[in-house]
Amino acid sequence: MLPIAMLLGPKHTRMRVSATGIIRNTLGVLHKNPSLSWVLSELIKHMEELGQRFYSGDVLVVDEFLQLYALDANRPKENPFVPLQRKNAIERIHKLSFEERAVWGDCPVCAAKDGEKCNPNAGLLATLIVAGETIYPGAHPARLDRAPKTVRIVPV
Ligand SMILES: [Zn+2]
Repeated sequence: MLPIAMLLGPKHTRMRVSATGIIRNTLGVLHKNPSLSWVLSELIKHMEELGQRFYSGDVLVVDEFLQLYALDANRPKENPFVPLQRKNAIERIHKLSFEERAVWGDCPVCAAKDGEKCNPNAGLLATLIVAGETIYPGAHPARLDRAPKTVRIVPV
């Protein structure tokens, strides 16, 4: 999910009507049309999901809902919030070295911060041995497991 700050409009203080209530009442008189009843039941579920996910911070659910119910006539072809310079930017895949992976992210064992070396007194360290020689003091295996093997380099 994209990290987007939640956007809230002003608090609505005038009359409110329950959209799902309207549909539920309509369903009551539509029992002779099972397929339409089913569609309306799905709409109720999706509207409830819309509210639940949106207020949990998942703003992309609005776009999903609008597309699903064909309310997306004005939807841009491309995401307008992707910076233009990013679109044609050169990207590279970089294979991380053992040394880079050993300091990647916060260590779950010794709590060393991203970029800091692991504390060897907090548990056995995994080390890299090349031709019989230990070339790095090492890192806690759990930290190495979490570290990616490759990263995508993009200009900022
Ligand atoms: Zn550690």
